[in-house]
Amino acid sequence: MPFTVVIIGRPNVGKSTLFNRLAGKRLALVDDTPGVTRDWRSADGHVGGLSFTIVDTAGLEDVFDDSLEARMRRQTEQALERADVALFVIDARTGITPLDRHFASWLRKGRTPVILVANKAEGKAGLPGILESFELGLGDPVPLSAEHGEGMADLVEALLPFA
Ligand code: GDP
Ligand code: MG
Repeated sequence: MPFTVVIIGRPNVGKSTLFNRLAGKRLALVDDTPGVTRDWRSADGHVGGLSFTIVDTAGLEDVFDDSLEARMRRQTEQALERADVALFVIDARTGITPLDRHFASWLRKGRTPVILVANKAEGKAGLPGILESFELGLGDPVPLSAEHGEGMADLVEALLPFA
């Protein structure tokens, strides 16, 4: 029985880049503009011999307005409902933002298991962000670079219990 992995997180952390890498296809739109992924996209995902359904989410769409939190919850709730495990992606280069903290505290209360992914971790620029991400209370981060394909073995290890 294939399992389902949903990728969540605020805009621009590299969710779609990770999706594309795991899907091995350019199905999700990657862009520097926050909120470019308008819909969920799913594909057959593969990494290190594991096969699963991978789901990309928009994260948060459009502008940061009053409806942000409600929107985030609604969208993420629906995606999480269908998932066996969530990859909660943060940007190790930017570090943890208030939105990441907010999102994390909400995820800690949920039922879906969460793997914390510290993306953009190539080189040394991500080190402070990786350390900072331990504060989120979601366990040890898996540092990786979706763009450069680094850290995939650790991601496989983190996903194994759900396979
Ligand atoms: P999303 O909004 O979370 O889906 O983020 P995207 O996948 O659209 O990526 C946002 C930006 O981050 C793009 O410019 C990507 O090229 C860049 N990006 C994604 N992954 C990495 C990474 O591993 N390292 C670096 N340095 N940049 C990345
Ligand atoms: Mg995206």
